[in-house]
Amino acid sequence: MALKTKHSVLDVALAQFDAAAGRLDLADGMREHLRACKRELVVHFPVRLDDGAVATYTGIRVQHNVARGPAKGGIRYSPMVDLDEVRALAMLMTWKCAVVNLPFGGAKGGVEVEPRWLSVAEPERLTRRFATEIAIVIGSENDIPAPDLGTDEHVMDWIMDTISMHRGYSMPGVVTGKPVPIGGTLGRREATGRGVAVVASSVLGAAGRSLEDASVAIQGFGNVGANAARAFDAMGAQVVAISDRSGGVYRPDGFDMAVIADCRDEIANCQEHFQGDRVTNAELLELPVDLLVPAAIEGQITDENAGRVKARFVVEGANGPTTDAADAILADRGITVVPDILANAGGVIVSYFEWVQDFSRYFWDLGEVNRNMDRVLGQAYAEVQATAQRERTTLRTAALMLAVRRVTEAITLRGFYP
Ligand code: GLU
Repeated sequence: MALKTKHSVLDVALAQFDAAAGRLDLADGMREHLRACKRELVVHFPVRLDDGAVATYTGIRVQHNVARGPAKGGIRYSPMVDLDEVRALAMLMTWKCAVVNLPFGGAKGGVEVEPRWLSVAEPERLTRRFATEIAIVIGSENDIPAPDLGTDEHVMDWIMDTISMHRGYSMPGVVTGKPVPIGGTLGRREATGRGVAVVASSVLGAAGRSLEDASVAIQGFGNVGANAARAFDAMGAQVVAISDRSGGVYRPDGFDMAVIADCRDEIANCQEHFQGDRVTNAELLELPVDLLVPAAIEGQITDENAGRVKARFVVEGANGPTTDAADAILADRGITVVPDILANAGGVIVSYFEWVQDFSRYFWDLGEVNRNMDRVLGQAYAEVQATAQRERTTLRTAALMLAVRRVTEAITLRGFYP
């Protein structure tokens, strides 16, 4: 894999990996192996638009590592999708699955498209054609997509149906995050946001504090941000700021959660929907709150604004929201960052439960899903925290050390073929 030179989410992911690999004393060969992605498929495909014209889209599926099990990771629809972004996010999925000890490797995919510009019937045609293009690498035994930025359970539904049509029988386990009536699991839609609040509660608890007296600012009101807001409220925290791509709203005395509870995951415009002081997405990151939850896109907390973050804790709902330079500034300032691979792992944990349920054809009730998620997340948090204390390092480096150690152990045990 040719490595990027300009500052990017891939540079950040590689810098984070190098920091952990250095502490683990990883051999050069192993380090080079893990800096590269195993498989990279780039496809260009035509889609007939509703007005009769044909547009060509670029789609990507990257598998970073599959030593611990089938590749697992979301598919995003975003105009920012490119090969390096998908490589970085696939690598983060390998570490995420390993740190919470799921028997999965890491993958990611995406289509370079602004989904909001597609008309009613176009997302389905685009998804079915993309699914067909990547059918040569995905499957319930080898690579299992899930929702991510700009995709949802309908997109998963179309992928599952398309692959099932090709194979001639229903293959529910080919994707997770599906609608419940076709083999999805209860609790998946809320899982990532709920996990963010569960992990936040652990990190506050470790500092002798509780969510009950904590104020929270959340950047992003998609699936992760909106469900995190609801979970924080249910667990007693006060949500004081939220935002979407058009800007944010700050209410020092907290939002009326009944309004947030009712509102659909992706509301049109936070500033129109919620009453309070208007803030920009950048200003939201600098509000005087206890907990900051970046739950939108990568690269939000940088060396430019990290010095002005006032929260004592940053819990990463998004993947890659903090650059490595910002990480160092936050650590120097005594701000605890719970890294993405742990903080937002609730989603992939419940994806794993969905996959298991699809195979066993036996579906769990919501209590069982949530109890098991809390157990897996709780254990991972405890292991990461113990490692951070033992190694005198940040939670991010500790999480990566645990994850990288597990992946290298699997690679070494399996040996190098042939
Ligand atoms: N896209 C989500 C993530 O970044 C979920 C992945 C999955 O469930 O496979 O963690």
